[in-house]
Amino acid sequence: MTMTDPKPSPTAATSGVSASGVSASGVSASGVSADVMALAGELGAERSKPGWSPFSLALNDEQREIRDWAHAFAADVIRPAAAEWDEREETPWPVIQEAAKIGLYGLDANINLFVDPSGLLMPLVHEELFWGDAGIGMSLKGTGLASSAIFSNGTPEQWSQWMPRCYGTPDDVRVAAFCSSEPGAGSDVSAIRTRAVYDEATDEWVINGQKAWATNGGIADIHVVVATVDPALGTKGQAAFVVPKSEVHGLEQGTKLRKHGLRASHTADVFFDNVRIPAANVLGGKDKLDERLARARESAAARDAAAARDAAAGAGAGAAGAGAAGAAGAAGATGRPAGRNASMATFEMTRHIVGAQAIGIARAAYEVALDYAKTREQFGRPIIDNQGIAFKLADMALEIDAARLLVWRAANMSAALMRGETPDYRHGEGSMAKLKAGEVAVKTTEEAIQILGGNGYTREYPVERMHRDAKIYTIFEGTSEIQRLVIARAISGMRIR
Ligand SMILES: Cc1cc2nc3c(=O)[nH]c(=O)nc-3n(C[C@H](O)[C@H](O)[C@H](O)COP(=O)(O)OP(=O)(O)OC[C@H]3O[C@@H](n4cnc5c(N)ncnc54)[C@H](O)[C@@H]3O)c2cc1C
Repeated sequence: MTMTDPKPSPTAATSGVSASGVSASGVSASGVSADVMALAGELGAERSKPGWSPFSLALNDEQREIRDWAHAFAADVIRPAAAEWDEREETPWPVIQEAAKIGLYGLDANINLFVDPSGLLMPLVHEELFWGDAGIGMSLKGTGLASSAIFSNGTPEQWSQWMPRCYGTPDDVRVAAFCSSEPGAGSDVSAIRTRAVYDEATDEWVINGQKAWATNGGIADIHVVVATVDPALGTKGQAAFVVPKSEVHGLEQGTKLRKHGLRASHTADVFFDNVRIPAANVLGGKDKLDERLARARESAAARDAAAARDAAAGAGAGAAGAGAAGAAGAAGATGRPAGRNASMATFEMTRHIVGAQAIGIARAAYEVALDYAKTREQFGRPIIDNQGIAFKLADMALEIDAARLLVWRAANMSAALMRGETPDYRHGEGSMAKLKAGEVAVKTTEEAIQILGGNGYTREYPVERMHRDAKIYTIFEGTSEIQRLVIARAISGMRIR
């Protein structure tokens, strides 16, 4: 019975309660007073005011249809091929081709997911594909790293020149690589040493360096490479460059890495030895880069001058100098500097998508474990009859749903950001989503092995593969520690290390 629609119960009819459900004493059959009923009516009217939208997590018809379409591909094409490509440790080109033929792989497919104003289509489809298999899923979705970098940093002309080439065509599918990490620069991107030097004589960039762990590195045509143009400026001196392997000399794939999981996805080092590319291949354009570098040099010079002044003043008054620095630090710690939200927002935009992939793996392992627990009998009854097993499964379901809610929230905020709105990023919401989903995937897949016992530990069942695949989600796209750092900085406003 609801407060707004009290229906008389059979017993109420004989106990002096009127048809409205409210008795002469002003108390309804459910014990709700007339005053409260009136208030409920007013609240109902308030809720129907224009401008208020109901909160809903329900998917619309189109979202359900596309999710189900991706699920069918995952169930019919990806799943049956998963174990084979994991063993072969090779890129599953036939699966990518099949996905391209039905419109699930390619630039158009990505744009269609991207335009959903709720932001949910992208994580919905990623969850389904990675539910099918994470290694194959990464082969289908790893290209998104490079195309997103072109989209985020490039000009509209660069979008149309390079983004279609990342994917190729259904008859000639391609993958692309995003090369940021280096042997000495993983979590710490400021340590990137790959250099891009402008050669005025030929109007070209010359790139030298080594990239590590690049998904699709060397097998891609389009490589988006993060390099430093002015090492003195740290990350502010870096830029991203499009390097089409088919048009350059000096780009070589290094060792293809043999991995713990995601084995159907190609990961390799990439070497750049005097690789020459046109000046126009810097994302955002050379003029914009020159302006940005000039601004960064000016503010670095101003900072140096201020530090020199402070040092000179501090020579005569050490304690006072320390006090001033302390005060500045405190202001930075408690205030919300202008631009903080904007820079955080940039990082927050895509992390949830990686979280959705992890949820796909977790859900797959949970489903296998649930089925197994219902059918496997020990001590004369299904093992799920024991709370020790049933509670594990309850926790798995709970944690997967909790992670998905965080992913959907971050997806919704990211969509708002792309519409030009300023969502209220406060707690590193994108990082929260990725962190939670990654850790849930590791825990859930491990518990799934436990529930399957000896069978879970063998390659006869898929949960050991899922466990191997899940582990990367606490490492790439920002390790769990780095996500916690982002969240800790966001909630404290302090530069926690
Ligand atoms: C399968 C796979 C695919 C990948 N794909 C790509 C790709 O396509 N493109 C690309 O550029 N890179 C890619 N990477 C690289 C990946 O992003 C890095 O491995 C990741 O960023 C971590 O860097 P690292 O391995 O150097 O670890 P490190 O940065 O050396 O970290 C080692 C440990 O120290 C911790 N740590 C580091 N700094 C701190 C700190 N300040 N506070 C607390 N703890 C800290 C880390 O959390 C981690 O536990 C891929 C890696 C793998 C394995």
